[in-house]
Order: sequence, then structure tokens, then C-alpha cells
Amino acid sequence: MERSIADFRWPRLLSLILPARCHTCRRYLRDEENPCFCRDCWETVSRIDGPCCPRCGKPFASEAALSHSPGHLCGDCRERLPHFDRAVSAGWFEGVLAEAIHLFKYRGRTLLARPLGAHLLHAMTRLPEPDDLMPVPLHPSRLRQREFNQSLLLCDNLAAESGLSVIPDGLERIRETPPQIGLSHKDRRRNVRRAFVVRRPERIEGRRIALIDDVLTTGATVNDCARALKRAGADQVYVMTVARTPK
Ligand SMILES: [Zn+2]
Ligand SMILES: [Zn+2]
Repeated sequence: MERSIADFRWPRLLSLILPARCHTCRRYLRDEENPCFCRDCWETVSRIDGPCCPRCGKPFASEAALSHSPGHLCGDCRERLPHFDRAVSAGWFEGVLAEAIHLFKYRGRTLLARPLGAHLLHAMTRLPEPDDLMPVPLHPSRLRQREFNQSLLLCDNLAAESGLSVIPDGLERIRETPPQIGLSHKDRRRNVRRAFVVRRPERIEGRRIALIDDVLTTGATVNDCARALKRAGADQVYVMTVARTPK
């Protein structure tokens, strides 16, 4: 049976009239600020607040790790010190936070930049204050495909909340890196090596820059960005991500 155009339009029209539903519990959203989640579900968003490696932000299993030596680094950092000075993540990549990042990044729900940015702002209190915010850039071909850079949207929201400036075009991704999924630590590092170049060294020299990204996995991508920024004369490079994985 042939379907008329009206069959396709009705659900979309109805969705404009009816309020949206919470993506997790399906409850109707009424006066929530969050466009995809109700207040109760959003409150369950993962947070990382405990003791962490002061360099890469990897959470320690126990408080004792830092009680006698606040500069105690995790095993990974002792083995190979990252190019960035400090990294923090707001929460674990799990549950509502993982769902929100997926909707934001792959389903075009860009209004989530605001609540995710607010979540990131909370993590920012654990860093020394940066001078500028900078997004991890996408390769131009990936940007054309996705139509927006999720890291830049997060930066803009964070800038609006914190009053910090954004350097949107300080770095350029000159190599498209194949997906990192399924690669070992070593292979991931090799996969992204030298993928970024600094485009505005005069804007970077002597600055304390906070690199913003959605998820930190091995840190290979931000580490490569930090390496380029440090070579261009950045004073400090901090990393802030909404989530980190694996737990
Ligand atoms: Zn809900
Ligand atoms: Zn570490």
C-alpha cells in the first residue's frame, strides 16, 4: 500500500505539539531546562569527585594514595609523563551521561551543550584558572559530515558561564585518524601522532590553555594536541573532558 506524505508528517507534527519525553524514563518534560532528560534522571549523572592522579586525572581507588604525598602520580604517568600539565573529567562515561554525550555528538541534540557545559564547569573548579579555552578540532572532512564540532559547542557554553575567552582556530587537525575503538594504548598513540598543527602561535605563546573535549579514553588525542601547543610556546596546557572511560 502506498503511504501518503501525511503519514510521515504526523508523528513529526505531534512531536511539535506534545512536550518532549525524558530520554531515560520517558516522562514528559515540562519546565525542565534540559532538553532531553528530566530533573530526576539528570541528577543521576556520573560525577568524579574523589582523589585523582594530579597529572592525568585518573581516579585513585583509595583516599590514602594522596594523603601523604599530594603529588603522587598514577602508574601510567610515572611510566610516561603526558605533555599536558593536568587533566580533569566531570564524570564517568556511563549511564545518563553516556546517553547524553551520544545524543549530543551523533544525534545532533546540540542543545545538550548547555547542561553538559554546566557539568564541565563543576570539574573546572579542580584546575588552576586557565587564560583561554580551546576545542579539540575535528578534521575538515569529519566536520563536514557532522556539521558541528561538539568540543567547540562545549567551549562556547563554558565561555558564557565562566567569562573566559575561546581560541576556536588555534589548532588544526591535518590528519584524519581512523577510529580508536579496539586499539591498544600504544597503537592509539601511534594512531593520532602528529595529527595536529598550531595555526595561531602568536595567540598561544605564554598562555595557560584549557583543551576541551567530550570524552577522554587513553588521552592520546589531547596529548598530541598538548604536544603541539607546548612546542608553540604555551605556558600550561590543561585538559577538561565531560567524561572519561573506561572505569
Ligand atoms: Zn527521566
Ligand atoms: Zn596519571
